[in-house]
Amino acid sequence: MKYRVPFVNYPLQYQNLKTEIDKAIRRVLERGDLILRKDVEEFEERLSSFLGVKYAVGVSNGTDAIIFALKAIGIGRGDEVITVSHTFVATVAAIVHCQAKPVLIDVKEDDYTMDMDRLEEAITSKTKAIIPVHLNGRSCDMQKLMRVAKRYNLAVIEDSAQALGAKFKGKMIGSFGVAGTFSFYPAKILGCFGDGGALATNSKKIYQEVLLLRDHGQKTKINIVRYGFTGRLDNLQAAVLNIKIKHLPQWIKRRRKLAMIYDEGLRDCPEVKLPPSPCSDNSYYDVYQNYVIRAERRDALFKYLKSKGVECLIKDPIALHHQKGLNLYKFRLPVSEKLAREVISLPMYPELKETQVEYVIKTIKKFYGYRA
Ligand SMILES: *Cc1c(COP(=O)(O)O)cnc(C)c1O
Repeated sequence: MKYRVPFVNYPLQYQNLKTEIDKAIRRVLERGDLILRKDVEEFEERLSSFLGVKYAVGVSNGTDAIIFALKAIGIGRGDEVITVSHTFVATVAAIVHCQAKPVLIDVKEDDYTMDMDRLEEAITSKTKAIIPVHLNGRSCDMQKLMRVAKRYNLAVIEDSAQALGAKFKGKMIGSFGVAGTFSFYPAKILGCFGDGGALATNSKKIYQEVLLLRDHGQKTKINIVRYGFTGRLDNLQAAVLNIKIKHLPQWIKRRRKLAMIYDEGLRDCPEVKLPPSPCSDNSYYDVYQNYVIRAERRDALFKYLKSKGVECLIKDPIALHHQKGLNLYKFRLPVSEKLAREVISLPMYPELKETQVEYVIKTIKKFYGYRA
């Protein structure tokens, strides 16, 4: 089915950048610059300066970035790491892959990020780290979080996969904790043509450790100092990212503008609960990786929108801790469970046209019986 408003539109973004991108890809291929070449270094410099951190390391994907961050600070068997259930499974998987124990807490109903009032009660003598997830392009409350982390001497690794460019009190997310992790999966704010990720840090020690972890522990070609992984960012992907990152600030502005249109259009429709508005709180600068609303009769709305040519996404109809096979069933997280029943993501990407957003708004209102 061809949608009038598709949920993502990769070919359109490529068309807009085709000349630059084709040229870069051809250059990389003609020179055979495939693994850990200068495009990766250049991207790491661009990213670290964008974030205002000392170091950035390009890695294979956002999940490996979290795993490497955890390993670099020595998280392992017997350790507990606090995060949320209302996230992409990768956050929790990374903890499990380090043989540590995930401790899941609830999120807030208004912005879907970690409920910092639940943080202290989850801390035990085994707790070593906290992974806040800046979900849908919105920062967690980093002031409350960093205060608790300091008091209990816990490391903070920010899962920033959905929020590159978001800020809290004027400071870039990913720069608060010992490390920030990013994903360049195609649908992310900054996406490559496959898998990619990065880790940002101000710690030289973590930086050097992650350089080893991503490349089989090879300090030099003849000196292997620990067991590592095939965890590098492809040079070809880095070349693509070097082009795309120049457009990032303007893409973020565009996402915020589209969020404002959704916001104004749906404000008088009480059947849907909107995410925080782009200008509602000066402490937050949201980048709207996703525009996620909570909707009455969510599943029926999803079907109706689909029938009208609007492609939406119900990301997690089953709360993560209710997924069979993940062994997380002991957690009771009422808000996360409620969100699993109510949230729906509307189309959101810079190439989306105003008229398409207006059409989505009109169609939602029609579903709830309002005259357009
Ligand atoms: C996308 C994502 C990841 C994982 O990134 P990959 O590059 O797909 O491994 C981790 N956490 C969150 C919150 C994500 O959205």
